[in-house]
Amino acid sequence: MLGAPGVGKGTQAKQISNVYSIPHISTGDMLREEIKNRTQLGEKAKNYMDKGELVPDQLIIEMLLNRVHKDKHTDGFILDGFPRTIVQVEALEESLVKLDLPINNVIEISLDNEEIIKRISNRRLCPNCDADYNLLNNPPNEDKCRKCGETVIQRKDDREETVRIRLEVYNKQTKPVIAYYKRQELLQKVDGAQSAKDVFNSITMILQNAQYKG
Ligand code: AMP
Repeated sequence: MLGAPGVGKGTQAKQISNVYSIPHISTGDMLREEIKNRTQLGEKAKNYMDKGELVPDQLIIEMLLNRVHKDKHTDGFILDGFPRTIVQVEALEESLVKLDLPINNVIEISLDNEEIIKRISNRRLCPNCDADYNLLNNPPNEDKCRKCGETVIQRKDDREETVRIRLEVYNKQTKPVIAYYKRQELLQKVDGAQSAKDVFNSITMILQNAQYKG
């Protein structure tokens, strides 16, 4: 699952993961977990994340591949936010060959920058149970999580000035990844301006068609 920050990758990937009963592997979530647990990797990654920059390839690839090789993924998995650079694409491909797992679908959710900034600056997160909120269309209960009651927070990297940096980084480093999968004829684009439900329906249609084609 590819797309600029704030297009709804995480929300969609979680739903797809539930419906298809396959693990959702999000490098952003994994890094936030490392930070929460105050691990060495978390400490290193935090500096980059807070600035809106990508965590260096070497660190992220090692973390992701450990996760991918940990379980037997006979039914596959959904990757959210990885790969984000061409170096990551190459590492992933090498690893998937070893695991004998093909990439079936690459989905890009697209959305224009001003809409992204509006959405992200309204995004809130529960630091306790990781529930996602948006002040515009899915608000918390006042400032409390509707699931566990904890006070919701804004991610440091969701502030407007950092979002603008993240979008630049996306253009420079991740757009070539999109172009690569397009050349491989694996890329399917979904309009992120639709409602979350319609985005989800578009994605399931793509997945069903891919299954049908075998
Ligand atoms: P996300 O939640 O996917 O938007 O990721 C939040 C931040 O984590 C990004 O802005 C990066 O700093 C870092 N990150 C997540 N995934 C990657 C990746 N594949 N490569 C490098 N940095 C990443």
